[in-house]
Amino acid sequence: MLPPVEPLDPDAAISIRGLVKRYGTFAAVDGLDLDIRRGEIFALLGPNGAGKTTTVEICEGYRRPDAGEVRVLGEDPAAGGRRWKSRLGIVLQSGAGDSQLTCRELLQAQASYFPDPRDPDEVLELVGLTEKAKSRGRTLSGGQRRRLDVALGIVGRPTLLFLDEPTTGFDPEARRQFWSLIRSLRELGTTMLLTTHYLDEAEALADRVGVIARGRLVEVAVPAHLGGRENAPAVVSWSEDGVRRTEATATPTAFVRDLASRFPGEVPELAVTRPTLEDVYLRMIGDPA
Ligand code: ATP
Repeated sequence: MLPPVEPLDPDAAISIRGLVKRYGTFAAVDGLDLDIRRGEIFALLGPNGAGKTTTVEICEGYRRPDAGEVRVLGEDPAAGGRRWKSRLGIVLQSGAGDSQLTCRELLQAQASYFPDPRDPDEVLELVGLTEKAKSRGRTLSGGQRRRLDVALGIVGRPTLLFLDEPTTGFDPEARRQFWSLIRSLRELGTTMLLTTHYLDEAEALADRVGVIARGRLVEVAVPAHLGGRENAPAVVSWSEDGVRRTEATATPTAFVRDLASRFPGEVPELAVTRPTLEDVYLRMIGDPA
């Protein structure tokens, strides 16, 4: 007998049941269930070709599912009207590109499609492009273009923002600035669905992460608990008699206490580590490495 299918969650920002999308005979999404709560940042992780973009584009109303049910802000994306669309912000993988318009003109044009847009100059400030207000899109660096993409995604004051690999090409400082922008949007109540290949980004930003592999959701958890991470053994390492030593232990506190009693002062080069999000993720998706 098939397991009972939970009904769609009417309070969720996104609720998906049994989603299937085929390209020919290949099922890119193969029976996916997912709920994204209002106000949360949800990171969708998965290897290339896992079905993330297909799922996100179905939620945005760009692609039609072959089976299953989807509700985004309470509506079926396949039937979503203009009002519904105006509540979404979308930052695609390939962005604004080489426009002849200036950054401010692009934002003004985009803002004109929305009933209650943000001030374009405030948005430029938010993404750190104030000095580029009069620059044409095509003169921006790769990272600046990506910021412009984010600006275009949020100028309509979206309730729900889709961010598809938003920080690809950012330098480390720009990524940190982007993260604080995302956190300030959350404080304003924006729900965000983020796809990323940067595990540190997911860990830094996401309230919950979901791992997709071969078109199915493998697990949903808070980043610290994914793959049973919180209960995984810790690895204690230190130096003794000129040799680097390591010990995997379920009780690192007791182990370190014993270890400390053997040394008159500091334990040389003491470190206690747990599996990173990347470690558990690679294990979950069956990385051969
Ligand atoms: P990435 O991390 O590389 O962006 P993804 O998880 O977003 O990957 P999708 O873009 O959803 O993956 O693609 C899922 C699968 O569906 C891939 O095998 C891809 O080749 C296939 N696919 C996507 N779009 C089409 C299409 N229009 N026609 C045929 N196959 C497609």
